[in-house]
Amino acid sequence: MTNRFSRRNLMGVPAAELGAFLASLGEPPYRAKQLQHWICRRLAASFEDMSDLPKGLRTQLQSLAYLADPVVLDVHRASDGTAKYALQLEDGLVVEAVAMPMEGHTTLCLSSQAGCAVGCRFCVTGALGSGRNLRAHEIFGQFRVLMREEGLVGKGVNVVFMGMGEPLLNLSHLVEALNFLSETVSLRRITLSTAGVVPKLYALAKLPRRPNLAVSLNATTDEKRAYLMPGVARWSLAELIGALKAYPLEAGRRITIEYVLISGINDSLWDARRLVQLLLGLRVKVNLIPLNPDPRFLPGLVPPSESVINAFAAHLAAANLNVTVRWSKGLEVAAACGQLRGQLRVQAPSPPAP
Ligand code: SAH
Ligand code: SF4
Repeated sequence: MTNRFSRRNLMGVPAAELGAFLASLGEPPYRAKQLQHWICRRLAASFEDMSDLPKGLRTQLQSLAYLADPVVLDVHRASDGTAKYALQLEDGLVVEAVAMPMEGHTTLCLSSQAGCAVGCRFCVTGALGSGRNLRAHEIFGQFRVLMREEGLVGKGVNVVFMGMGEPLLNLSHLVEALNFLSETVSLRRITLSTAGVVPKLYALAKLPRRPNLAVSLNATTDEKRAYLMPGVARWSLAELIGALKAYPLEAGRRITIEYVLISGINDSLWDARRLVQLLLGLRVKVNLIPLNPDPRFLPGLVPPSESVINAFAAHLAAANLNVTVRWSKGLEVAAACGQLRGQLRVQAPSPPAP
């Protein structure tokens, strides 16, 4: 791909193409590996930083090529250290990604699409409507930028696809991005969260190497699910649970079931009882997420009180389900995952730095 100044983006380029490009500059085949190492493992921001490439080649690369990382437009940092980034892609679209410091490690929450067609009633990204699929290098680019900006290069991190978009509606690009990511992050530390696109769950199950799986269930009857998550209502809960039963899990691994608790909608003890029934026989852990409210985009929706949340959790625990409540991080800056909205920009992006 060339930009409007006819320089070539070298991010997300398959090894063979990279080799051909370097060969056209008279470089030996091993240079492609060296370059890829700098892009995928060392997460270098520029050719100038690639210290073991000859100076002449670095200068040549700078005039002929560039690395199309998203541009940081904005960062909001909460007092707990959570940092929400607004990142601009080459076509001017803005996506969001979040760095959440936890005990002992940082979790990066990345976006897979700009917007989301599933249209969940409780989700700000859903309120945006469908956006485009992100390309592999745009997904990997979020990781590169956050790792550098947060001073994490060389450190262990967890990655969750819980930002904007439905990863299983962009599976091929996501798998490509996972290949880049898994150069430095073990797949065991990467989690893909899906609203439950059933045919794509079967496709995911067939991959030779898979990340951890999280499924946003959020409802215990087909009617409630159709109301809350219209874009995945064509698959019944029975079909979804069937796909999860068939999903191959490594020893010691579980599927995470995410359940956003919304006052008066899915938080009754009847819901809790039905949830227990639905999950019988599955190797799961349940993550209860009190709704992150947003009066502007999600009018009328509020989280349950703490006592209702605790009673719901206690009911699941009494049925021997492994359950945790995710008290949102970064609420002050609405930085929590699932609370990302981006902004649609229309002006042309500035060209990459020479
Ligand atoms: N599309 C995928 C991944 C992105 S959403 C999915 O739905 O799983 C990531 C998580 O954020 C999902 O579990 C979703 O249910 C949750 N979420 C969305 N909006 C939320 C809100 N307003 N408050 C709390 N969690 C929310
Ligand atoms: Fe899309 Fe997930 Fe938001 Fe639903 S919760 S609209 S699937 S991003």
